[in-house]
Amino acid sequence: MHAKTISQIQGHWLMTPGPTEVSADVRFAMSQSYTNPDLDPAFLSFYIETAQHFNDFVGNADGETFLLAGEGILGLEAACASMIEPKDRVLIIENGIFGEGFKDFAQMYGADTCVFSGDRRNALDPEAIEAFISKNGPFKYATLVHCETPSGITNPVDAIGKILRRHNIVSIVDSVSAIGGEAMDMTAYGLDVVLCASQKAFSAPVGITTVSLSKIALERLRQRETAIPSFYANLKLWLNYKEEKWFPYTQPIHLLAAFRIAIDQLEKEAFISKHEKVAEAVRQTLVSTGLNLFAQSGHANTVTTVLLPQGIDFEDLQQELSQTSGVLVGGGFGFLSNQIFRIGHMGEGADELKIKRLLSALDQSFMHLGYPLEKSLAKEFVKFL
Ligand SMILES: *Cc1c(COP(=O)(O)O)cnc(C)c1O
Repeated sequence: MHAKTISQIQGHWLMTPGPTEVSADVRFAMSQSYTNPDLDPAFLSFYIETAQHFNDFVGNADGETFLLAGEGILGLEAACASMIEPKDRVLIIENGIFGEGFKDFAQMYGADTCVFSGDRRNALDPEAIEAFISKNGPFKYATLVHCETPSGITNPVDAIGKILRRHNIVSIVDSVSAIGGEAMDMTAYGLDVVLCASQKAFSAPVGITTVSLSKIALERLRQRETAIPSFYANLKLWLNYKEEKWFPYTQPIHLLAAFRIAIDQLEKEAFISKHEKVAEAVRQTLVSTGLNLFAQSGHANTVTTVLLPQGIDFEDLQQELSQTSGVLVGGGFGFLSNQIFRIGHMGEGADELKIKRLLSALDQSFMHLGYPLEKSLAKEFVKFL
């Protein structure tokens, strides 16, 4: 029985916008035997060094990164739980599902929220945000999403970060599906709390969330007046872990080792330009064969959202794809339910050969579904590389 149920979840090939395929090196790191993280001082050094590597990766020059045991959502909740105090005015900047979702977390921890809504098919407009702040401010915090994974839109967090800094607003940024595939330089952009996770562009197993805090955010956290109504999402417990040589709970050493290998393997600039290149080629390919993109601007380097042709159901497409080649792509949810399909080209998926194989499978699937494309996706793709 056990063998059967496990085999059912094996053997898929992922071109989804997260979780992404885990590379062989990272899986190997995961399979080693490790020390007891509670007892062995070598673990503390390993943890500090790993957190520092990530902190350098996101350009958080004068701040610090914590690596928490949990999926990306833990980072979003921990940031809201730990930074926001009851009645704080929080600006929710949104142009999609994750952006909107921040409001629930902020309100759960007592925020007085005010929402700026951008157009859902376009990147956020920094000038419109600045005008909104001048009219509706002041705000203590603002939440925003770097890459709106469900709609495939990357927002200009560099320009928005500078505006928020100028207005003395501490920013909380979900960059879960962006970092690694999009540029991130916290200090240069003026960002304060930046969240990421292991299972998107880093292609490590699900289970680590990263919370990077600027100097300003660290200071805010130290000086907060009310108690944080959480233990697992309480970032204050992490402030002095190095000096105290203490973690709030036993650390997932296998996951951390895997994540460490994944970070070390990346050469930041080259990795981002690889994402840029394949994303551009994927978009040109889709458009040249008569398909339409959902996003009209701010096209993400990590994921592309494609409108489903009239009469094609996402479930049928997914079934065809998995029967022809065992590949999984993403679908739409919320307001995009059964409107789009999503190609994840991040991390291990940002690979020309894998994308070409996926496009061949799409060629076949569209034909089987009675919607032959004007040209072959796989053949077009090669031209645009
Ligand atoms: C993947 C992702 C998360 C983590 O959320 P899950 O839905 O649990 O995977 C958070 N924010 C963004 C933008 C993401 O893409």
